[in-house]
Amino acid sequence: MDMNKLNLDDTIVAISTPVGEGGIGIVRLSGKNALKVADRIFVSKNGKKPSRFKTYTVHYGHIANIDEVILTVMRAPRSYTKEHVVEINCHSGIVPLKKILDLVLKNGARLAEPGEFTKRAFLNGRIDILQAESVLDIIRAKTDLSLRAALNNLEGAFSKKINAVRDELIGVLAHIEASIDFPEEEDVDRIRRKEIQHNLRRVSKDMRKFISTADQGKILRQGIKTVICGSPNVGKSSLMNALLRDCRAIVTHLPGTTRDTIEEIVNIKGVPVVLIDTAGISATSHPIEKEGVKRSHSSIETADLILLVLDHGRKLSRRDKEIIRIIKDKENVIIVINKKDLKKRIDIGGLPKRRIVYTSAIRQTGIDRLEDTVNDIIFKGKAPTADLASISNDRQLGVLQRSFEDVKAALDKAPVDCIAVYVRSAIESLGEITGHTITEQALDRIFAEFCIGK
Ligand code: GDP
Repeated sequence: MDMNKLNLDDTIVAISTPVGEGGIGIVRLSGKNALKVADRIFVSKNGKKPSRFKTYTVHYGHIANIDEVILTVMRAPRSYTKEHVVEINCHSGIVPLKKILDLVLKNGARLAEPGEFTKRAFLNGRIDILQAESVLDIIRAKTDLSLRAALNNLEGAFSKKINAVRDELIGVLAHIEASIDFPEEEDVDRIRRKEIQHNLRRVSKDMRKFISTADQGKILRQGIKTVICGSPNVGKSSLMNALLRDCRAIVTHLPGTTRDTIEEIVNIKGVPVVLIDTAGISATSHPIEKEGVKRSHSSIETADLILLVLDHGRKLSRRDKEIIRIIKDKENVIIVINKKDLKKRIDIGGLPKRRIVYTSAIRQTGIDRLEDTVNDIIFKGKAPTADLASISNDRQLGVLQRSFEDVKAALDKAPVDCIAVYVRSAIESLGEITGHTITEQALDRIFAEFCIGK
């Protein structure tokens, strides 16, 4: 990687809080000249200049003609970026924030790119790429458990595991190289080869474990897309409300709610579940309804989990049967027989063999069972716990899988120099997970997801 092209010499600035009306807004600077730039624009109450302030001290003053502010100084290397960092707390309004930003830009800083502060924390060696990515996971965490898992990664728990495996592979490679350079008698060679195989097998076992917990990490980060489908009036909306009420921690109302589908995120035992309530799903000739039906179908196609809701109090209708036909071959389906409080008229004999849960949305019964079943189906009995330290996104998983394939290939190959090629490649890939070896393009892609100011 060409470090010169990464512009670590510039002092960067950005508005680090959401721009809008609020109590406090923060303009953040980082870089060699952060203190010098602050000297030019900050007028402190006692006349002292920021370049004379002690690290981690807070000062009252003004940015001339703009606002009354509090300024914080964090000197290199003990700061977020390991560079000099200055944070200006002003009143959060578009005009004061924007005017302070412009003034800083005129006085020698340049506008930061998205995620550039965190990128510098990586380039300056404070955190690795796994940790940098977990910063984004923390910002986007939807439940306590998602937050906990992201924090574990930020604190380096998963990096440690990856590094341990990488170190082991480096050891294996050293071993192989020694046997190539000094070919010994056959016996010694055979013993050595056995040891190499043994170590590779241990590494592959660890890797398999990382891959098997990847789903947990990804689900905590992205949530489970769950579609609630069923005929009109079976109680889909009531069930959704019952789940929302039960899980009190409603996190957000997703934008993009249409008349056809409603999306809400609920917290089911720590797992973010995106509930999608579909409108009518059977064939229709009405053009607007047709669009809704199309959308319902596509939600079902892409769902991680489907809740098929039926009415306990009436026989299966033609429409019910049609929906059952649509979801018949889908894997993750829970059949929810709602209105349990009504007298049974449904015949469950004809239902596909799936997990069945009885609920009464109105009386709030069976909801807890439903939540447990959701968890069971998604995690197959291996629900994530607060100490989870795992893969959290597809990039990490892709690279890990590539590395795992190499280790498996190395185990299969007989000639020693062939093993070395695969082991070297596996080490390289593992290095991409943490950023030991990473291309500039990969780096750009990772940080492009960040917001400006982070
Ligand atoms: P949707 O069209 O499937 O979303 O159904 P709604 O949630 O709008 O419910 C349709 C009707 O069924 C409403 O009058 C609800 O009050 C009623 N309902 C929903 N759940 C239950 C239940 O568990 N028991 C009874 N008795 N009525 C219910």
